[in-house]
Amino acid sequence: MLEAKNPQKTDLENLGEFGLIDHLTKDLPQSQPSTKLGIGDDAAVLDHSELQTVLTTDMLVEGVHFDLAYMPLQHLGYKAVVVNLSDVYAMNATATQITVSIAVSNRFSLEALEAFYAGVRHAAQTYGVDVVGGDTTSSTKGMIISITALGTAAPEKLCYRSGAKENDLLVVSGDLGGAYMGLQVLEREKAVYAVNPQSQPDLEPYHYIVQRQLKPEARKDIPELLAALEVKPTAMIDISDGLSSEILHLCKASKLGCDLYEDKIPLDPTVISSCEEFHLDSTTVALSGGEDYELLFTIAPSDYDKIKGNPNLTVIGHMTQAAAGAYLVTRANTKIPLQAQGWNAFEDKK
Ligand code: ADP
Ligand code: MG
Repeated sequence: MLEAKNPQKTDLENLGEFGLIDHLTKDLPQSQPSTKLGIGDDAAVLDHSELQTVLTTDMLVEGVHFDLAYMPLQHLGYKAVVVNLSDVYAMNATATQITVSIAVSNRFSLEALEAFYAGVRHAAQTYGVDVVGGDTTSSTKGMIISITALGTAAPEKLCYRSGAKENDLLVVSGDLGGAYMGLQVLEREKAVYAVNPQSQPDLEPYHYIVQRQLKPEARKDIPELLAALEVKPTAMIDISDGLSSEILHLCKASKLGCDLYEDKIPLDPTVISSCEEFHLDSTTVALSGGEDYELLFTIAPSDYDKIKGNPNLTVIGHMTQAAAGAYLVTRANTKIPLQAQGWNAFEDKK
C-alpha cells in the first residue's frame, strides 16, 4: 500500500528453476578475498585461513515475521540480510559471506523476486558481504526466507554472552523502541487503508521509527569503533527481542545479576512522542519492543573513560552478583525485576 505496485508481472513458470536462479544471481559481485568460489557449483568454497569462522542463520516466514501489506519486498530483502549480519557483529566478528534461500508460492512474480533481490544486493554491498549461494524452491503458500551469514574473527576477539564480570558496565548502542513504534504506525495505517483505500497516510512525522522497522541497519560500526577505542567487550548480544530479554540472556550466560537504570535508556524523541500518541509506556516499549538491532555489551569499569561521551554509546547499568537478581531501577528509585516479556508485555497496557 505504501508503494506503487509494479504493473508488470512475469510468471515464475516461464523461467524455470535454473533460469530464475541465474536471473536473480547474475550480477552479484564477489569482493571478499576469502570467497574462493561463489554461486554456480554444488557448494561455495571459502578460505578463512587462520581466522575462526562465525556462522548464524535466521528464518523469516510471511505472516509470522513480516507482512507484505506494508513491507515492500526490496526492504524485506535488505532487512532479511541485516538481521543476520547483526548476529555476526554481536560476536565482535567481521561479516564476510551470506547464503540466501527462498521458497515462494506462484502468487509471486519475477518482478517481486527482483525487488527482493535488489534489497539483498543493496545490503550485501552496504555491508561488504558476498552472496555465495542459496536455494530456490516453491511453497504452497506465501514466502519463506532463510539466510545464513558467515563471519570471521581472530579467536581472542570473539565476544560471547558468557564473558561478563561483576561490576562490568552495561552499554547499549544507538537508541531503543523505534522499530516497535514504527510497526505500530504501519499497523494503524494498514487498518485505515482497509477501511478507506483512498486514504493517503502522512508518515513524515514518523519517518525515523518507520525506517527503524522497515529498513533497520546492523551495527557494523560498533565493533570497529570499539577496536579503535581499544575496548574489548567482555560479553555482547544484539537486541532482536527487546532490551529486557537480551539483558537476561547476558545475565544467565554470565551467571550474574544486573541493575538497569530506567532514566539511562536511550530513546529518540520520535519514540517518546509516538508513545504518548499510542498511550504506551516508552520504557516498556524499549524493554520489550524488539527488532532494534542495536548491540548490548558489557565492558570492564576500567574501560569507562575510553567510551565516555561517545554519542553512539550509552551506559545503562552494571552487572551484579547472580544472587542480587536482574532489576530495572525506575526513575522513582524503586527496583522492579526484569522480565523477558516479549510482545505480550503490551497486552494489559492497551
Ligand atoms: P543444487 O541442485 O546443487 O542445490 P541449485 O540449482 O539449487 O544447486 O543452485 C545452483 C547454484 O545457485 C548454487 O551455487 C546455489 O548456491 C545457487 N543458488 C540457488 N538459489 C539461490 C538463491 N536464491 N540465491 C543465491 N544463490 C542461489
Ligand atoms: Mg539447491
